[in-house]
Amino acid sequence: MLQNILDHFQINGVNEGSWTGQQSVISSGSLLEVLSPHNNQPIASIKLTDKQAYQKVVEEAQGAFLKWRNVPAPKRGEIVRQFGHKLREEKEMLSKLVAHEMGKSLQESYGEVQEMIDICDFAVGLSRQLYGLTMHSERPMHRMYEQWHPLGVVGIISAFNFPVAVWSWNSAIAWVCGNVCIWKASEKTPLTALVCQKLIAEILVANQLPQGISCLISGAREVGEWMSEDNRLPLISATGSVPMGKAVGQTVAKRFGKSLLELGGNNAMIITENADLNIAIPAAYFGAIGTSGQRCTSTRRLIVHRSVLEEVISRLVNAYAQITIGDPLDAKTHMGPLVDKLAVESYLAGIDVCKKLGGQMLVEGGRLEADHLKNGCYVTPSIALVDASFPNLQKELFAPLLYIIAYDDLKEAVKIQNDVPQGLSSTIMTTNIREAEYFLSHNGSDCGIANVNIGTSGAEIGGAFGGEKETGGGRESGSDAWRNYMRRQTVTINYSDELPLSQGIKFEL
Ligand code: NAD
Repeated sequence: MLQNILDHFQINGVNEGSWTGQQSVISSGSLLEVLSPHNNQPIASIKLTDKQAYQKVVEEAQGAFLKWRNVPAPKRGEIVRQFGHKLREEKEMLSKLVAHEMGKSLQESYGEVQEMIDICDFAVGLSRQLYGLTMHSERPMHRMYEQWHPLGVVGIISAFNFPVAVWSWNSAIAWVCGNVCIWKASEKTPLTALVCQKLIAEILVANQLPQGISCLISGAREVGEWMSEDNRLPLISATGSVPMGKAVGQTVAKRFGKSLLELGGNNAMIITENADLNIAIPAAYFGAIGTSGQRCTSTRRLIVHRSVLEEVISRLVNAYAQITIGDPLDAKTHMGPLVDKLAVESYLAGIDVCKKLGGQMLVEGGRLEADHLKNGCYVTPSIALVDASFPNLQKELFAPLLYIIAYDDLKEAVKIQNDVPQGLSSTIMTTNIREAEYFLSHNGSDCGIANVNIGTSGAEIGGAFGGEKETGGGRESGSDAWRNYMRRQTVTINYSDELPLSQGIKFEL
């Protein structure tokens, strides 16, 4: 299966680490071995981008920007339309590679590639809607308006858990806005990045466009740091952990660059006494174990009204007993492996700490003991009952450990929900409109995403995606998130034969 996918995308052995369009820039850097989390066997090796190759890529991107910004926005949209079409053709194979390299189930991998297709469709429409406002000038025979220009070379740093979708959220919008992109994918998922680069490069070649419109570089933290420090990259869009975002945000701010930060979440679902448990239980289940608990929007805390606590626990424990864990490429799998051995160790340590701190394990997970999966990074998920002061509720453990906390009063539930440093996704399960509206009011959830009767994960691309507090404040994808990729210019034109000053100031010569 894997060989078929690699052959299909013409990937073999060692691949060069830096690409502008179809051209690889040979790096003298060391090799990064890509392992499948399914069995820890090597899939391929990628050459890391060294400083020299990085310089070459940025120069190529800068050159491409001078041409690309002069292509009319709807024509840029046409290129993105072609890319979306290509993704439709390649959905099956690309999804399988995502599942193989990152470990998420095939169903979720299809969903991730579909998200890429959706954002391309959105960006095509957007390419005719990059609107500015017009204002009435206080001076006679003057016209005032604002317009939006592209920024230049946009740097994209992405995390392993959405190895391809996050790049497309950024790049599809950035391209129609007239920018060119340099992407540093996660060092844990460089292969799917390489395939995406190949696909967009084919479109650029077919349209005789400069190759530097889409560039890919490979490497870990150090390569991301070059980007953050680089004045030639006016915007760094970075997705990953809070410590990474703090480092990137501070470095980019020092040079007065812009950063768009999409960082860790610690997402809660409130299940009230009026919840429809036939909706709440599957939503909690998918939210907690989907992508093996490795979504930024994964449900990490269930805040449950005491009157339904027993039933929620019993139904959820029952659902957990039926989880199908296994090869992500098997269509029946609910939960694939964690991304790597380090993630497994971190999860096991998280369970130990939870027990030491007094968490009551309702379902105690651990390493999956199954002969045919023993070489992979497979684990079973956990549920722990804790009280609201439990210290680890403050932290995002990027694994399938779900905390349950009981509450008596909705205000208390919202306070528990908001009492963490992160602010990405939140949801309330209720059939009571008063409870729902309270949760959505300014007294309610403090998160960037607030849902009613759907889970915390699985956002649609049409809305602006992102979170508050330590989640970084960035907004990507739909709504008006495109403004992050452009600079605003306010224009005032005088078509009179006089020179009136604003605020009525007299300044006679
Ligand atoms: P990570 O922070 O370890 O790495 C993310 C990316 O940042 C990688 O490409 C890495 O090489 C790079 N990087 C790390 N340190 C850097 C530095 N100092 N300067 C520049 N680049 C640096 O995160 P991860 O383990 O790949 O992903 C999991 C984390 O990402 C979780 O916290 C998750 O919640 C978060 N995440 C957030 C969103 C969101 O939209 N809010 C989406 C996906 C993942």
